[in-house]
Amino acid sequence: MSKTIMTPYAQEAEKGYDFRRAMEEASRCLLCYDAPCSEGCPAGTDPAKFIRSLRFKNVWGAAETIRENNPLAGCCADVCPYDNMCEKACSRSGIDRPIHIGKLQKFLVEQEKEENMNFMKPGEPNGKRIACIGAGPSSLACARELARNGYAVTIFEANEKAGGMLTYGILPSRLPQKVVDFDIETIRQAGVQFEFNHKVDRDELERLKKEYDAVYVGVGLWKAKDVTIPGAELSGVENALSYLKAARNQDQDFKVGENVIVIGGGDVAMDCVSTAKQLGANAVIVYRRTIEEAPANMEEVAAVQKMGIPIFTQFAPEEILGENGKVTGLKAAGRDGYSSLILKADQIVFAIGQEQTDEFAGLEKEAGVFTGGDMLYGRGRTVVEAVADGKQAAADIAEYLK
Ligand code: SF4
Repeated sequence: MSKTIMTPYAQEAEKGYDFRRAMEEASRCLLCYDAPCSEGCPAGTDPAKFIRSLRFKNVWGAAETIRENNPLAGCCADVCPYDNMCEKACSRSGIDRPIHIGKLQKFLVEQEKEENMNFMKPGEPNGKRIACIGAGPSSLACARELARNGYAVTIFEANEKAGGMLTYGILPSRLPQKVVDFDIETIRQAGVQFEFNHKVDRDELERLKKEYDAVYVGVGLWKAKDVTIPGAELSGVENALSYLKAARNQDQDFKVGENVIVIGGGDVAMDCVSTAKQLGANAVIVYRRTIEEAPANMEEVAAVQKMGIPIFTQFAPEEILGENGKVTGLKAAGRDGYSSLILKADQIVFAIGQEQTDEFAGLEKEAGVFTGGDMLYGRGRTVVEAVADGKQAAADIAEYLK
């Protein structure tokens, strides 16, 4: 069992809405004819439609709109950067503040679960078989769309659980596992089969291509980028994904340092530093650009700041300092070209991005083989963008098999 580590932001998010508060918020909606909020969602979730249903107290209809459009509706409700998507587009912003679309979505997904609404059912079998490699967000979305349209879909996943980054790369405080598990349960209800602990390599891909009518490869980016500065080989230098996975699973050999430096300015860096802090470390962030340039969700940055974690901006790591094979500190160079920084550390976590694992590097596009998600773009993207990719891949596969 993973231990839930609560950040202040997560505690706030956990509170959620009750029915009265949800109705109050929905009643602020202007029911816009052109609904810019709906245009603002990459995955095609239709806030205008579900908020309209909610206003008329049609909770089931509202929840169904969300689930139909977004296979990972619960996860998106917790981790979507709403302020850059649907809420940014909301017309109500011009009057006072945007509708809290994310909180309404969270409320409705909770109702769906509590009321056992069970919207998902397998489609009428059409005799076609699809293999999806990887059980991350894009693959899950692709599989669900196909299964509910009658395709027999099997997902092959190297880990023991589905969810990819949702399960192994995001803190439970930001995205509780029960939320991920519920979304995956609805995907199962649509008829998707899973084979866990099943790593597919290039040889097996060849076999799957013969056995299945189409194969979707959405394996994400799981290889940490190489750290190339002097000292990278020292004990105490960690990569973010292994760090989070070990902390989240409470691995026996996982030990948080006393003085931890996290390098990076994305959400993963914020998750790593929050984890280290909450496990008792003196944790800091070192980031090579300004905070305004950081790719992290600003609510996450604010949560980190509220925890009293220092963020050293505009300093790039230059050398990892060590003694007897172990990390003792970090030397970083200022962006201005003349300042420098030396910080004490016994653990340095690099959250500087991931790349494709070797098995699928250079995978060519060919008939019957489709790719999507982060591996297609070569960088981590939001969950909702991965859902959009998976839905698009499902449409492409259906078109190909017509
Ligand atoms: S843009 Fe805002 S106010 Fe208009 S329909 Fe969407 S949520 Fe309602």
